[in-house]
Amino acid sequence: MLDFVGTPESTSTIVRGRTGEFEVALWVEGGEIECRCNCPSRRGSCKHGIAAALVLKQWVERDSKKRRRRGWGNPGKPAHSAGGS
Ligand SMILES: [Zn+2]
Repeated sequence: MLDFVGTPESTSTIVRGRTGEFEVALWVEGGEIECRCNCPSRRGSCKHGIAAALVLKQWVERDSKKRRRRGWGNPGKPAHSAGGS
């Protein structure tokens, strides 16, 4: 499991590769996960970025579910107390 720092919308993590540890920065842009890795491979998305993006995706999905649930639970404020006739 990777450790992410920051928020799902803008985070970074360390991915261990064969030639060392690389820092991968990830962010969400237009619903897509973008990534940038500091490994020598200058290609758009290296395997570190892809691996990190996969884990981040799961994290984002779990996090959004949690947030939705938290939004519904609104203690102390009864939804139908105002108004009435
Ligand atoms: Zn890389």
